[in-house]
Amino acid sequence: MAAMVGSPQRLAYLDHAATTPLRPEARAAMLPWLDGQFGNPSGAHAVARAARTAIDESRDAVAAALGCAPNEVVFTGSGTEADNLAIRGVAAARPGPVVISAVEHHAVLHPAEALDARAVGVDARGVVQPDELAALLAVTPGVTLVSIMAANNEVGVIQPLAELAPVVRRHAPGAALHTDAVQAAAWLDLATAAASADLISVSAHKFGGPQGVGALVVRRGTPIRAQLLGGGQERELRSGTHNVAGIVGLAAALAAKTAQREAEARRVAGLRDQLAAGLTGLIPDAWETAAADGRRAHLLPGTLHLTIAGVESEALLFLLDEAGVCASAASACASGAQEASHVLAAMGIPRAATAGALRLSLGWSSTAADVDRVLDVLPAAVARLRSAVGVGR
Ligand code: PLP
Repeated sequence: MAAMVGSPQRLAYLDHAATTPLRPEARAAMLPWLDGQFGNPSGAHAVARAARTAIDESRDAVAAALGCAPNEVVFTGSGTEADNLAIRGVAAARPGPVVISAVEHHAVLHPAEALDARAVGVDARGVVQPDELAALLAVTPGVTLVSIMAANNEVGVIQPLAELAPVVRRHAPGAALHTDAVQAAAWLDLATAAASADLISVSAHKFGGPQGVGALVVRRGTPIRAQLLGGGQERELRSGTHNVAGIVGLAAALAAKTAQREAEARRVAGLRDQLAAGLTGLIPDAWETAAADGRRAHLLPGTLHLTIAGVESEALLFLLDEAGVCASAASACASGAQEASHVLAAMGIPRAATAGALRLSLGWSSTAADVDRVLDVLPAAVARLRSAVGVGR
């Protein structure tokens, strides 16, 4: 991304769901801990104490933003680690059936699959229906863990946690409720939106913090067993020397996003709506995957997921990249290769139609110029690919 600064052709970055640029507030908070200040917070001298104070203050700020007590915050090395601690940790403390939604991120899906979890489906808009969850829980006695994400990483669908949580409490009274709020954290007030969850995962780099640091809220009384054993940090729940700069950056980014959230969400939703209207108007046979009817109240403000007929995502992403537009098909694995999306499959979208899936995700640093660039480049790229294979002639 070095090309972003001072390059002749500024990149249009529309991949905030993958990672976001660092907010200036996070950078400023981190700098002293990268340059001069250091210390292992577990030590017993002045240098260590300064680091411990920084961690304590960060914990207080994170707790205030997430609506929990400071001693309910467990700092982790990523959102993936927070999800794994939640799923595997609860399963270890209280073995029993696990229920997840069919559209979870792989960081929940894979550890849950290893526990033979059952999945509740979603409707065509990607939303878990309370009666479907109730029906699954009714035929799955003794469930000890339910994990339903706050918002989806591919299509941006927000799950109705406030409606789903009472269903869990009624039909699985012994279950802990986990929500992966890694994508939601940039946009929702989690103190309200995730108030009903016993466990909440977040990851700093999705809301303007640094990569490689996350947190899991574990409400008091939730059964959980540590998955990393060692020095006993984080009240024995996550051993490992703290990433002080990272944790300070996470807290500063979260505080900045909380302060700016409403204005940022309004501004970015406006840009997203403009992009959606422009692209579906300019590209024949392109539709909004989770909002075919154009109603977007159930979507994160920053995510626009399109299904474009007659093109392959990989070829489209190549042309966009060439033109300086960073986007994603949202179903890539770590190798960068495209794999079939379990999210789109769960929404009932035929495999053939998903070949042209495209995720454009905006965030705190997005501008009208980014939207203009995509409107310039994308319709032409689609036309070029379609004419190459003879579609629409
Ligand atoms: N959960 C969701 C919904 C995500 O979108 C991601 C990252 O894409 C993760 C978990 C994993 O977070 P991290 O990249 O911090 O490991």
